[in-house]
Amino acid sequence: IDRINQRKLSGDSWFSLEFFPPRTNNGALNLIQRFERMARGKPLFCDITWHPAGDPGNVDTPTSSTCISGTMVNYCGIETMLHMTCCGQSVETIKDHLQKAKDLGIRNILALRGDPLVDDGDWKYVEGGLNYATDLVKLIKEEHGDYFVICVAGYPTGHPECTSYEDDLKYLKEKVDAGADFIITQLFFEAETYLKFLQDCRDIGITCPIVPGILPIQAYQSLRHIVKLSKLEVPQEIIDAINPIKENDAAIRNFGIDLCVDLCKHVLASGDVGGLHFYTLNREVATIEILKRLGMWTEEVRRPLPWKLTANHARCK
Ligand code: FAD
Repeated sequence: IDRINQRKLSGDSWFSLEFFPPRTNNGALNLIQRFERMARGKPLFCDITWHPAGDPGNVDTPTSSTCISGTMVNYCGIETMLHMTCCGQSVETIKDHLQKAKDLGIRNILALRGDPLVDDGDWKYVEGGLNYATDLVKLIKEEHGDYFVICVAGYPTGHPECTSYEDDLKYLKEKVDAGADFIITQLFFEAETYLKFLQDCRDIGITCPIVPGILPIQAYQSLRHIVKLSKLEVPQEIIDAINPIKENDAAIRNFGIDLCVDLCKHVLASGDVGGLHFYTLNREVATIEILKRLGMWTEEVRRPLPWKLTANHARCK
């Protein structure tokens, strides 16, 4: 959070990169090499999503969120943020996850409610449980004081389950008042959506950084998947532009890059945060190209990886 604030003072724009945990050991090796390549562009931090269904954050599983975040911070030397959801989990389990994160040297947590597992039906209030992200923020503060920098999620069009956009903003303020240091937003397709949300947050007294979450459209199927997951509507003009090229990955990616560069320029022009958070979907080409076009990608030489093992070697074993 200090770095975000320093960048704002100096007027230098910055970016951060989100990845999801790999599902296989080979995937882990590939991803670590991708971290290395993307770290050359000097992201302010990188983060790893949390998947309670397939990956309960068990540090003994090589591909878990906790483990891959530990690798990112300790082996790749990247400032790392671990996402953590609390929905459907006991206070003791969450305390355990937090301790493991601390033991691995992670200093930043994105505190989320999360969603129930598919088989568990709709979200239900549990008496005495961790029901909202605010409860997780409070638990982190109670257990670890200021050790962790805490981020929370914001929804420029309101969370899909919210009673109203205004109520959702009020609950967002509660998360911040409970101790969150900054906000990353859900993805959005039009700069105006974010800019209105930003203003509405400022109007109700949310003063912390509100970092726009940016999704470069990279392929037709992945866009459909993400939109379904996040319950967002894609504007008709984007659908109309993509439909004729939906079988052509390169054309979609180029369209996505142009669209995203434009979106980012508009958002950065607000001058409010000066940073962009990229949902990379574990891919690098589009994000790097967008950052280059924005003049935000300057490569630094990094020390080589401390091992020589490649994914191909691992597959041979
Ligand atoms: P909350 O802030 O708790 O809000 C959930 C709902 O409850 C909202 O409708 C809100 O209005 C309402 N609410 C909040 N407080 C109260 C209250 N006191 N009383 C009544 N209603 C209240 N999911 C994952 O599983 N893993 C991830 O890694 C992940 N990363 C994400 C990263 C970002 C940047 C974003 C935007 C989302 C991410 N998600 C992730 C999705 C997220 O888990 C879901 O959107 C989830 O449904 C809500 O989580 P939350 O932390 O925003 O919930």
